[in-house]
Amino acid sequence: MTDIQDHTNKPYRILLYYKYVPIENYELFAAEHLQYCKELGVKGRILVAHQGINGTLSGTVEQTEAYIAHMRSNPLFTDMVYKIDESDSHVFKKLFVRPKKELVTLRYEKPLDPNVRTGKHLSPKEFHEQLQRDDVIIIDGRNDYEYDIGHFRGAIRPTVESFREFPQWIRNNLKDAKDKTILTYCTGGIRCETLTGVLLEEGFNDVAQLDGGIVTYGKDEEVQGRLFDGKCYVFDERISVRVNNTDEDIVVGTCYHCGKPEDRYINCADDLCHRQHICCEECEEEHAAYCSDECEANDAPKRQLKVLQSHR
Ligand SMILES: [Zn+2]
Ligand SMILES: [Zn+2]
Repeated sequence: MTDIQDHTNKPYRILLYYKYVPIENYELFAAEHLQYCKELGVKGRILVAHQGINGTLSGTVEQTEAYIAHMRSNPLFTDMVYKIDESDSHVFKKLFVRPKKELVTLRYEKPLDPNVRTGKHLSPKEFHEQLQRDDVIIIDGRNDYEYDIGHFRGAIRPTVESFREFPQWIRNNLKDAKDKTILTYCTGGIRCETLTGVLLEEGFNDVAQLDGGIVTYGKDEEVQGRLFDGKCYVFDERISVRVNNTDEDIVVGTCYHCGKPEDRYINCADDLCHRQHICCEECEEEHAAYCSDECEANDAPKRQLKVLQSHR
């Protein structure tokens, strides 16, 4: 598979990638990889586990090309696929390379290895065709707040606040759907590798996942993101990116305060709350970026203190 990329000639690039492949002595690998990335000057978040690697990082065109060449020179990662976005700047403030026990954390009693058992991989075009059947169940494999600003048309919004809650949610909500075709998707594909594994373990037989995730679907020249409504939540400073490049692009989120269509997330101005909420520009100004009157009231004494301190 070739890498998935835009062509706008911006000076920075953002890479998103994963590969399930056994890494011997992954803690040492992570330490050396951190050193390499520091020297190269890229920023982002890379997880390394015995079962593989999952990363997202930003850097200049030269830095990201050097990173890809470096990884391709390692036989473990020669065929790793990169989703590549272009950008005017870095989209991360820092660099983290962390050794982890698992790449994706699930509360599940059996070990899951996507190299042994996972759902069928569908290309964007195949997934697009399957989406239009009226007898399929489409599961958004992400968190509720990601679903709320954009999702595939007809997808179920799982009521999970973290990925680890999925096995229980499946048992509670899908037990009568074991003979149905289940389609799953997530941002870049990695969460579906294990999510579809859980579904197969739980007795579902016909389980398929969107290969390369929403990001790849949006870059596919034929489908152009057509059946994705709203924006795709991303875990960097951009917060969300456009997916649907057709004239059917719509806004699916609503402002937390006034209910108008909106898809921008902000954090509550109260440092103790910091709740991420969808907020339109007018309401951000009106509520001074607080999510509630309580937060605004809580914060008032602190603000006065800051003013006093600044006058000393
Ligand atoms: Zn509003
Ligand atoms: Zn708040």
